[in-house]
Amino acid sequence: MRFSKRLDQLQPYLFVEISRKIAEKKARGEEVISFGIGDPDIPTPPHIVERLIKASRDPVNHRYPETNGLPELRHAISHWYEARFGVRLDPEKEVLPLIGAKEGIGHVALCFLDQGDVALVPDPGYPVYHVGTMFAGGEPYYLPLHEENGWLPDLESVPEEVRQKAKVIWLNYPNNPTGAVAHLGFFERVVAFARRYDIAVLHDAPYTEVSYDGYSPVSFLQTPGAKEVGIEFHSLSKSYNMTGWRIGMAVGNAAMINALFKVKSNLDSGIPQAIQHAGIEALTAPRESVMEHNRIYQQRRDLVLEALTKLGLRATSPRAGLYIWARVPLGYSSAQFAAALLDEKGIVVTPGSSYGRQGEGFVRLSLTLPDSDVEKAVARLSGWQVPPVTNG
Ligand SMILES: *Cc1c(COP(=O)(O)O)cnc(C)c1O
Repeated sequence: MRFSKRLDQLQPYLFVEISRKIAEKKARGEEVISFGIGDPDIPTPPHIVERLIKASRDPVNHRYPETNGLPELRHAISHWYEARFGVRLDPEKEVLPLIGAKEGIGHVALCFLDQGDVALVPDPGYPVYHVGTMFAGGEPYYLPLHEENGWLPDLESVPEEVRQKAKVIWLNYPNNPTGAVAHLGFFERVVAFARRYDIAVLHDAPYTEVSYDGYSPVSFLQTPGAKEVGIEFHSLSKSYNMTGWRIGMAVGNAAMINALFKVKSNLDSGIPQAIQHAGIEALTAPRESVMEHNRIYQQRRDLVLEALTKLGLRATSPRAGLYIWARVPLGYSSAQFAAALLDEKGIVVTPGSSYGRQGEGFVRLSLTLPDSDVEKAVARLSGWQVPPVTNG
């Protein structure tokens, strides 16, 4: 068999070693508590599931969907954006439903990048930005994110020749994995940069609805001129606990949306229609469930932060998103500390280094595990003396 070179370029997943340890522990009957994957533990709200059940019984929904979805879904997305952000979108030209944001994020690279083209990609960042770039034959240029800058990229630091070559810039706020948020002032600088160098902005925003302490994250599209240079990816996964159903959307610049539609219509046949109906229900029903989930995550956030602080680990309290980004103790690498937590306490966290070189020195804790598990983990950590690093 002769596989493609691009398959070899996929880095071995850092989690492989951790998965092996988890399996060993479980085989010994030990209970492992996971702050690993960002996948909401709370079920999809019942009214959404009811709508899905009902829609799945209608034979109309048993046939091929359209790539660009039901008009009713595109309208629901457009109304939701206007109600939530005051952003007006033409449901025919500026809205494209996706089989989850991840699907669109991967495919959009094919709309912009030919062999050797440059994409500006944040580091640390969601891995699909650079993987999609690589699959399209493009080259990622990494934008380092630093705590001093509030985990926002310093556009001024991008060398002139890279700016000239770059065709897209990836951004993601509220940010995974750092928990940082962006303000409109930053997005205004992004719009000016994108205009000046003719760079398409790809803003990944699945966490705008997951927020705390009364904070309300912004959309990139609220920025004046944003729609001339970019699109935003959004998802029902994190806002409505619908990760398993696979539904998201891209919205914004009509030419960019059309390009993504062209690619997708040659590769997929859209979101199963019953699931589109569930999405319509999510977007049009009152937001109580979103608020309720945020209250739950906020409590978990506070419990975990308190436990980390007692251990002497430094972490900022996130105002949005599902993650706590914590500095590992001095002397440890991300992977070593994740291994120590697992070996000694049966607790799984994600090494920051799996999100890029700049993630080294951090671990990410996802708040998507039941309260009882959070409490157990906090109890296990209480009084723990972090052992000296053993090199392994
Ligand atoms: C979860 C996540 C996604 C993927 O969302 P889906 O709609 O479930 O595919 C995209 N980007 C980031 C940053 C995420 O954390």
